[in-house]
Amino acid sequence: MRCGKCKNADSKVIDSRIIDNGQTIRRRRECEFCGFRFTTFERVGITDLMVIKKDGSKEMYDRLKLKKAILLAFAKTNSKSDDIDDMLNTLEIKRQFQGNEITSKQIGDDVLDLLKQDYPVAYVRFASVYKSFAGLEDFKNLIG
Ligand SMILES: [Zn+2]
Repeated sequence: MRCGKCKNADSKVIDSRIIDNGQTIRRRRECEFCGFRFTTFERVGITDLMVIKKDGSKEMYDRLKLKKAILLAFAKTNSKSDDIDDMLNTLEIKRQFQGNEITSKQIGDDVLDLLKQDYPVAYVRFASVYKSFAGLEDFKNLIG
């Protein structure tokens, strides 16, 4: 992003903030040449992501739908909607560099990876939705 004052191309990010209900990242930047400070806004550009479902059919990625599924997994535990938005932002930013198609399984696996560390209860609940368990053994392995 070019400096608005001296047109130098190099700037460093001094602050990033997620705003607009998780849809936009605001960055404060400082020109590395003249020190001029300016603000840029980045929209998460994921509206054209296609999700390939188990049966091979495709549908547009639906952030709200995924968020609802994660919220369900969090039911009865005290989670904040903001935490889930942060999680989705992380996933969507990662997606931007990986083409415009993804399998629903990959989305599920990614969510599980994020839940695993900090939210064990939600992890198991979400897993029970996204993984089709072959039997009780699978479920035990997952919890263990
Ligand atoms: Zn400058």
